[in-house]
Amino acid sequence: MRRSAILFFLAILAPSLVLGVLALRSVQSQQLAFERQEQQLAQGLADKLADAVRQRVLDLQREFAQLTDRALAAASPADLKNNFDDQLRPLWPLAQVGFVVDTAGQCYSPSLFGPAESRRFRLANELFLCNRESVEVVWNGPKGRVNLSELDAAPAAKAGESKSVFATRAGASEPAGAAADAGSRSFQHIVAGARLGTMARFVQDELTLLFWYRPTGMDDLTFGARVALSSLGPALLPAVQIEPEFREEFYAVLRDDNARRVAQSSWSPPEDQRAPLAATEIGEMLPHWRVALYPRHADRAGLAASAARRTTAAVVATLLLAIAAGGWLIAQDVHRHLTLARQKTDFVSNITHELKTPLTSIRMFTELLARDPELDPAKRRQFLEVIGAECARLTRLINHVLDFARRERCEMRYRFEWADLGALVRQAVGFYHPQFAAGGCVVNVEVPGEPVEVKVDAEAVSQALMNLFSNAEKYSETDRHIDIRLRRSMAQGPGNGGWAMVEVLDRGPGVPAGCEMKIFEQFYRAHDSLASGIPGSGLGLTIARQVARAHGGDVTYTRREGGGSCFELRLPIAVREKT
Ligand code: ADP
Repeated sequence: MRRSAILFFLAILAPSLVLGVLALRSVQSQQLAFERQEQQLAQGLADKLADAVRQRVLDLQREFAQLTDRALAAASPADLKNNFDDQLRPLWPLAQVGFVVDTAGQCYSPSLFGPAESRRFRLANELFLCNRESVEVVWNGPKGRVNLSELDAAPAAKAGESKSVFATRAGASEPAGAAADAGSRSFQHIVAGARLGTMARFVQDELTLLFWYRPTGMDDLTFGARVALSSLGPALLPAVQIEPEFREEFYAVLRDDNARRVAQSSWSPPEDQRAPLAATEIGEMLPHWRVALYPRHADRAGLAASAARRTTAAVVATLLLAIAAGGWLIAQDVHRHLTLARQKTDFVSNITHELKTPLTSIRMFTELLARDPELDPAKRRQFLEVIGAECARLTRLINHVLDFARRERCEMRYRFEWADLGALVRQAVGFYHPQFAAGGCVVNVEVPGEPVEVKVDAEAVSQALMNLFSNAEKYSETDRHIDIRLRRSMAQGPGNGGWAMVEVLDRGPGVPAGCEMKIFEQFYRAHDSLASGIPGSGLGLTIARQVARAHGGDVTYTRREGGGSCFELRLPIAVREKT
């Protein structure tokens, strides 16, 4: 049994467990792959949005250039260059200050007597705009945008009074190699050879963004504007909108160099609950500004994975449970077969023992009779009675085996006939009288005076009764009084006539506790022949119960009050139809 349990575990349970673990691991790797995909998708979207923002800034530059051209068309360049700051601000809400400088390093606008903001601008930027101060230039390099996170490490890039400028230019080719162009440069050097561009610099830790434009035919003049960054957010809003098919999954936020929200996609929560899935810097146009992509829904990959994990775990658990239940049923069945096989072996040794005992006494008494022809007639009769009783015991035993074999093959046929159960009981007691007498039993029979009518196979019922008598006689010990009672009960029975009960009571040891039900199983013996010395085949009660049940009744056991056993054969009383 232990060996089969180990085999069962190794062959079925262990592989199932391994399968379960593999399934869970595959769910985990799927989750990782899904997370990587989602991250890649978010990075792609963030890159696209950053491109869109750059494109939008380029549009705004062109808008500034067109406005300047229009203003130049409306007024003479000499007038405009002195009043550009005053004229630009009302025309273009994004302009904080307008400026005009020439290649010779003269600043025409804003006026030193203009509004406070314009004056401050001029004081802070005049040296640079008039080529009297050189700055380090960080260009939009030929290999793509500069990684601004790396630049963060360089203190000059965002220091209090920075000498660095992040520059881009359009309308001309890139300067011949960003690396070659890197180094200290004046304003005129930066704008030379291009039509328009941006310059971003940190002044007192605050980002200043300048747009500049050099109109055609006026190569010595540069028109520019300081862009109001507070108004830039609404202007860039259309550029941070996510494509419709991804709107359900992500939202985007454009953050400035201080990580403040500047613009966001149409749906976005007031506070970001989670870290961004991906972020892309805008580049030199707006240094340290970035587009960040967030997932709209809480940890979708995690939720899907834990749902898949739960399902897999449930499938594996069900599988294991089914295997365990199947295994348990098989083990039960094997156990039942093993018990039956053992009981059959016991049966063979019991039956051999049972056959041997009467044969020995028959042989012994026959020899005694044969050896002494002058034997006392009383003795002779006694010996013959013993021989007769032993023959009857042998017949009963053989009948048991034959009946049992017939029942096993389902060949048992009953012939139901009307009979008086009282008469049947008395007749069976009469048949069994020699054995009772030989066993020294005192039998008391109580049968009602009036007939108890039952429709039964009389032969089968009297065999069932004799099995009970035989047990009472076999298992009685010192007190060998046996009571046999026939009663009737009016409790509702299948035959509408109530029940007839034959009780066989003895004063023996009774059935050992815990065996009350098992004694009705085939071959089961609570008192083993070899150990107890009481012969038996383990079939008597099985047959008695089969007969009773075939008649709609039963045989049951109860412990007798005052010690002993009480076996009850119960049969339904039928009501005979009057003809
Ligand atoms: P057996 O041939 O062993 O008597 P049975 O089927 O008639 O087979 O009985 C099954 C078992 O029930 C017996 O082995 C015995 O242990 C128990 N049994 C039956 N009748 C009695 C009884 N009157 N008193 C005590 N035990 C009994």
